[in-house]
Amino acid sequence: MSLSQMARSIRESVTLKLNQTAALLREKGEPVIHLGGGEPKSKTPIDAIVSCTSVLNSGDIKYTPPDGIPALKKAIIRYTEEHYARAVRPENVVASCGAKQAIMAALIAILDPKDEVIFPSPYWVSYPEMVKLAGGVPVAVKAEDGSFSPTVKEIADAVGSYTKAIILNSPNNPSGVMYSREFIAGIVELCEKKNLWLIMDDTYNRLVFDGRAPINCYDFSTDDLEQSRLIVINCVSKMYAMTGFRIGWAVGNREVVQAMSTIQSQQTSGPATPSQWAAAGALNGIQNSIEALRLTLENNRNILMDRLGAFPGVRVTRPDGAFYSFPDFSNYQKDSQKLAEFLLDKVRVVTVPGREFGMEGHLRISFCGAIKEITEGVERIRWALDPTAPNEIYLGGRRLVRDWM
Ligand code: PLP
Repeated sequence: MSLSQMARSIRESVTLKLNQTAALLREKGEPVIHLGGGEPKSKTPIDAIVSCTSVLNSGDIKYTPPDGIPALKKAIIRYTEEHYARAVRPENVVASCGAKQAIMAALIAILDPKDEVIFPSPYWVSYPEMVKLAGGVPVAVKAEDGSFSPTVKEIADAVGSYTKAIILNSPNNPSGVMYSREFIAGIVELCEKKNLWLIMDDTYNRLVFDGRAPINCYDFSTDDLEQSRLIVINCVSKMYAMTGFRIGWAVGNREVVQAMSTIQSQQTSGPATPSQWAAAGALNGIQNSIEALRLTLENNRNILMDRLGAFPGVRVTRPDGAFYSFPDFSNYQKDSQKLAEFLLDKVRVVTVPGREFGMEGHLRISFCGAIKEITEGVERIRWALDPTAPNEIYLGGRRLVRDWM
């Protein structure tokens, strides 16, 4: 079949694929533990449901402006004022089908063929594919010291004549690391000095632990908003556990926001109308669900760290936020794809291979699920890998004997 080069070069979202695999196995009655997911288990906030159902009940559900309904934009403007201390206008805001479309539209709006986009490694799986879809070239930068945070100099050294943009995501998917204020300030400064776009992916910005405050990238920007090449991305997906509604947004200068809106007008005609009302409801409603989620995640993180900390040979970095950890299992198996397949096959635990995030030897383990699943999942992994563990366990009522060590 004559599919395009583009279609043949783009890889499927590994995390969405794993969701399907886990669901299929569960349907067959397999005792699967899904530690590979990227969505909190909590329910949609009631204010989002009320707002959404009221528009559904009206039966008047029509196209909206491609950059979002005024009510949603107003709520986003208020959010930006409250959490970023930035007064923005409706022309600076575009609502999209999730943070994913906002990032994609931003990349299409700023990239010409062969333009390079730099991001630190480990990185969210979708960045390289999205950059390629927009005709650009992804450039991942690894920290020389093996940590999850390259230095500003390492990023600056990767900047060349084709570099057009940098993407930062903090707290980071998959490592859970929150970059330091100095690092973010340094990257903002670098972008302003070199006239680069900076896409700040703040998807997990509010979900931070140990008394940390979310970092506001505008604190370090000296440019006026209309001169600034800073594009800040947010969404309702994670902080309100509203992944299925598919609403995200970008805040940026008028010109880039207009371009993104035009792109969306041809792609999707903007996000689904009921979802926009739901997102406006969440943003305008009672905000206690975010703190409740944050506390749950922090507690889950602590429990996961206790378990992984007692796992011999596994190197763990304590996540500062989000709901992912990225332990290094290379003492057991250097090929993360093989390891993830082995764990799914033998003990029915879903993890995501580190290779997908640009780091071999690691697995991404999510802690957004139930504590029981997290602890049992780690126990199963340990049982599968640790030769000193007892030789048999019961899995979903079935006796399993280890015959691979
Ligand atoms: N950015 C990061 C870092 C993510 O981890 C995700 C989802 O996993 C997204 C963006 C996409 O968010 P949305 O579901 O709103 O498209």
